[in-house]
Amino acid sequence: MALDRKKLNEASRYFNTLAKDCTMCAQNCHVNREKRRGFCGQGTSAKITNAVLHFGEEPPLVGERGAGAIFFVGCGMRCVYCQNFAFSQLNYGREVSSKELGEIFLKLQKSGATTLDLVTPEPHLHSILEALIYGQKNGLSLPIVFNTSSYVNVETLKQLDGIVDVYLADIRYTNDALAMKYSHVPDYWEKCKRALREMYRQVGAFKSERMHGLIVRHMVLPNGISGTQMALRFIAEELSTSVPISLMSQYFPVYKARNISELARKINEEEYSNALKMVEEYGLSGWFQPLDEERNGVYAKTIG
Ligand code: SF4
Repeated sequence: MALDRKKLNEASRYFNTLAKDCTMCAQNCHVNREKRRGFCGQGTSAKITNAVLHFGEEPPLVGERGAGAIFFVGCGMRCVYCQNFAFSQLNYGREVSSKELGEIFLKLQKSGATTLDLVTPEPHLHSILEALIYGQKNGLSLPIVFNTSSYVNVETLKQLDGIVDVYLADIRYTNDALAMKYSHVPDYWEKCKRALREMYRQVGAFKSERMHGLIVRHMVLPNGISGTQMALRFIAEELSTSVPISLMSQYFPVYKARNISELARKINEEEYSNALKMVEEYGLSGWFQPLDEERNGVYAKTIG
């Protein structure tokens, strides 16, 4: 969708104000980011770890030349198994001005990226909006992917209505106690459901020909921790069976999970085949990562 200058300006003003009493993600820290850091540890400048043509996202978002992924530093969740813990939790990365960030967007576009894939954008929305304004003035036209844990407030999402093309949204858990235990987030499931309903209201189910809509990601965790059945039922019954599901098998124990017995192994064949069966039973379709020996996290197969 072509970026609308008026919408960008309105959202930019909103998020710049919000940075002084931050509720950009559902941690709702209410800190003035000019003076204090909240749960995500981020100040007022955008901080990124990398910007690359990325081939590990869902096939339509990757296209021929890769998704133009920008990995932002900091997160509103602290997953004990986070594969990106060095920058999501330990704050490794470099600060960039909004203009530099806009130039990075344009560079990815020039490199042939299929999409602009904003990975964990929530803590940096005020800078991202300024960067999009810079990009729009200089010819940025890539579809914008909001790649999120879904731990985000509806009010935040409303500001992005008409700006985001694709919501690539996780369901991490359907049990709040487990979400708190393993990711330090209160009320995850309720907040996630509200966020997903709002995303679906805005963009509907993903359609590759329009490069527009909602894709729900679900990574299967060992020992039923991710609550796969309830997650799939929610998509099928409260959103739509036309919302593509992206089922992920790539879990492996890293970071703190290596010392947590119920998370200290990869998922097994039975767990994954049960999840795939449930996808079919709920009439869902999409993509899945094959559970092969390499477990390299590539989406080689479609479901449905
Ligand atoms: S982005 Fe989220 S975690 Fe970071 S300060 Fe704002 S509300 Fe807190």
